[in-house]
Amino acid sequence: MRTHEAGALHGDFASLRPSWLSVPEDVNALLPQLWADGVARSDEGVLHVGGIAVDTLAEQFGTPAYILDEDDFRARCRAWAEAFAGADVYYAAKAFCSKAVLRAAVEEGLNVDVCTAGELAVALAAGIEPARLGLHGNNKSLAELRQAVEIGLGRIVVDSFTEIERLDEIAAEFGARPQVMVRVNVGVEAHTHEYIATAHEDQKFGFSLADGDAYEAARRVIGSEHLELAGLHSHIGSQIFDTAAFEVSAARVVRLQARLREDFGAVLPEIDLGGGFGMAYTSQDDPQPPTDIAAALVKIVEAECAVAGIEPPRLSIEPGRTLIGPAVFTLYEVGTVKPVTLSGGSSRLYVSVDGGMSDNIRPALYDATYSATLASRVSQAVPALARVVGKHCESGDIVVKDEFLPADVAPGDLLAVPGTGAYCRSMGSNYNHVPRPPVIAVRDGEARVILARETVDDLLRLDVG
Ligand SMILES: *Cc1c(COP(=O)(O)O)cnc(C)c1O
Repeated sequence: MRTHEAGALHGDFASLRPSWLSVPEDVNALLPQLWADGVARSDEGVLHVGGIAVDTLAEQFGTPAYILDEDDFRARCRAWAEAFAGADVYYAAKAFCSKAVLRAAVEEGLNVDVCTAGELAVALAAGIEPARLGLHGNNKSLAELRQAVEIGLGRIVVDSFTEIERLDEIAAEFGARPQVMVRVNVGVEAHTHEYIATAHEDQKFGFSLADGDAYEAARRVIGSEHLELAGLHSHIGSQIFDTAAFEVSAARVVRLQARLREDFGAVLPEIDLGGGFGMAYTSQDDPQPPTDIAAALVKIVEAECAVAGIEPPRLSIEPGRTLIGPAVFTLYEVGTVKPVTLSGGSSRLYVSVDGGMSDNIRPALYDATYSATLASRVSQAVPALARVVGKHCESGDIVVKDEFLPADVAPGDLLAVPGTGAYCRSMGSNYNHVPRPPVIAVRDGEARVILARETVDDLLRLDVG
């Protein structure tokens, strides 16, 4: 095993360390906001989840694997459902979609949003009533729209004039009257700690408020014999920590709703402010508790409705990542460790794991940041600035761009990356013909596979020559 001199390492990484990342006092410590509630280190220093040691999980299920603390996920669902009592909380299934997880969300009081026939099939296979499902998407197929109308989906969020026409015809054909929401592009883009109130009209989702399309879309749905306008919908971004952006979007949506009442006497029962509530990926992120977010959103909608002179409609929201993200960590095995010294003399440890961009594309896709910890043991070695990378043939195949790991991290160690419940397995790929990892749910001291590991045979089955 290589060793590093403490002094040399401390000096060398200084110029490469991002300013937000401080040198940890204890490199083995777990930052509570990054981890599911059931995760802790044992007295021997091994990471446990729900009472099961990660080395046991690795032995039984192999690595890499996504490990779900099911009680933690359920507790988050309950916390959001309770905080938003009197409103509807839809779990955005695109964040992570499996039968067990959708069923758990519904058991804890949530509804579910899907945006393709595939996600819908999982929800139906999980036994979820169609009335508890919403359908999104900017290009739903005719088959998807027909199925939604035929089985009586709770609501369909329309995204284009073409779609309103198609839905109108399909509803007529089935003699149905689906509940429709109009997705409004309010011209607000919120992202992490910032939002831009006017700059995001140039994108594919929704009907623009600014050019009157949103008004026209609502007018057409109101005028349809076969469609019921349930309300207006807006979704302004992801990783939002600040309710100020929702204030702007709610004000704009409520103003449109007031105009629709004035012009057509339409009383819309519902307003949906979308999802995108932030979660913690690194020490930089400090999400608000759902009770605070709920209080703020309810207040915003009530205040805007008072200004517009309308009754506050029922609120709905669509969190995805904040529910499932923190409940999951990815367990990897370290394969190689390579100290790389740059020309300026600074150095970092490249720690290669047995997965990568096929199980977590987010760092490569949009510079997402993650954290990592040595999971199979604790170490007294000094912290070294490390970069956790995958096994794929891309230099952008990075799992954790900047993190301090013990300098003696070595092949065979297990590494855990928290916060990987959302948009990791669901955006997974088979790049380099790497089969996708399983999802293991831990609950009551027992671990079970809820999504099986893909095999090379699965991939070969599709390769029909
Ligand atoms: C993606 C999405 C969500 C969920 O976003 P999160 O960041 O996971 O909370 C909610 N609503 C809509 C319309 C979405 O597209």
